[in-house]
Amino acid sequence: MTRCYFCQGTVQKKKIRHVHQWGEHVYIFEDVPAEVCSQCGEIYFAPDVLDMMDEIATHETEPQHTIAVPVYSLA
Ligand SMILES: [Zn+2]
Repeated sequence: MTRCYFCQGTVQKKKIRHVHQWGEHVYIFEDVPAEVCSQCGEIYFAPDVLDMMDEIATHETEPQHTIAVPVYSLA
């Protein structure tokens, strides 16, 4: 893909950090190959990259490291 589906901006290949929420679980993926629109910031993942992230999240694969995520309520 060379043009953004939404704004026709230029799409560039990048390695990004992606936060994936699955129910009460939050997974952070680093060095994810993606294509990012330089204009609107829309992110595109290849189908095999999405499959890899689903696979890791659903099989609770041992992570490289774990970080604490603070949760705040504005209630
Ligand atoms: Zn765009």
